[in-house]
Amino acid sequence: MAALERKTQIAAWLDKPAHGARLQIRNDIDVPVPGDGELLVKLDYTGFCHSDVHSIYGETPMETDIAGHEGIGHVIQLGPDVPEEWLNKRVGVKWQHSTCGECEICHVNPTACPNQHNSGRDRRGTFQQYIVVPARGTTKIPEGLKSEIAAPLLCAGLTMYSAVLKTRLQAGEWLLLPGAGGGLGHLGLQVAAKRGYKVIAIDTGDAKRKMCMDLGAAVFLDFKTDDIDAEVRKLTNGFGVHACIVSAGSEAAYAQGLKLVRNLGTLVCVGIPRLDFDLPISPFMMIVRGLHVVGSSVGTASELDDLLEMAVKGDVVPQISVFDFDEINNVMEKLARFEIGGRVVLKIPA
Ligand SMILES: [Zn+2]
Ligand SMILES: [Zn+2]
Repeated sequence: MAALERKTQIAAWLDKPAHGARLQIRNDIDVPVPGDGELLVKLDYTGFCHSDVHSIYGETPMETDIAGHEGIGHVIQLGPDVPEEWLNKRVGVKWQHSTCGECEICHVNPTACPNQHNSGRDRRGTFQQYIVVPARGTTKIPEGLKSEIAAPLLCAGLTMYSAVLKTRLQAGEWLLLPGAGGGLGHLGLQVAAKRGYKVIAIDTGDAKRKMCMDLGAAVFLDFKTDDIDAEVRKLTNGFGVHACIVSAGSEAAYAQGLKLVRNLGTLVCVGIPRLDFDLPISPFMMIVRGLHVVGSSVGTASELDDLLEMAVKGDVVPQISVFDFDEINNVMEKLARFEIGGRVVLKIPA
């Protein structure tokens, strides 16, 4: 077992969640000690997910002082009862820190375990140099994938991978993807296209158009210049798409998705709007149209393994911008204003 000499570490510290809150870079945070079944991971990179901004700004629940849930690093110390083979392994630290593994929900799909703990929600997250995580549920990162490329797959990529599966589409069916050129959208687009779904990518501007078509979209519609409703109807024999993944957190995106999904179609809820917003559809219309509405948060360990395999083959390539750790507050403000395209990754100080 490697002895760790450092007792304190650098972390981006949050005093209290609040709108416009800033993080303090501190170097006096204790290095945690791995307990039974736990790994001590020295992090190299962490993604900065938009949902971290929601947590830090107090818009969604956060009960810890260090955010972040897309961490990549190496195991440097093992707690008691951890097999020696974990030592020095490169691993990913995800939103799901742990699940109970025993409840009736876990037996179906642990992503919805009511007893789960989450990195950056009720457990310290990945905006620090050293983190302790349970070995069970920790993902080994395959060789041939750069750490900074793997980081955004742990939440953003996994979330979209699982959302694409939840559409229950057959190859050749229509999938509507609003925000297809965005941080989540461009990952979902690649997964869906590789599975043979016909993706209608919605975004705006020539750069996004080119990117979406290059990544496998069947059609690109510009929400600033195209009549989206009319174009989608035209493409789909007037019925609408078989499924829509709403990855934007706007109320308009949900309203549009419900309108453009065909009868018997599927709407997958991923983007987080303000918490008091309810889906704008009546039970009567649900009944008449036979819609299937499903919420999706991250994905399972085996879904992540499948996604990482796709990434190793180059079938899914996240577009990333890498920043230094001490730029974290600037990055957060830009994320809050949606000013950064693709996914944000921070380099953790060595
Ligand atoms: Zn996330
Ligand atoms: Zn459970």
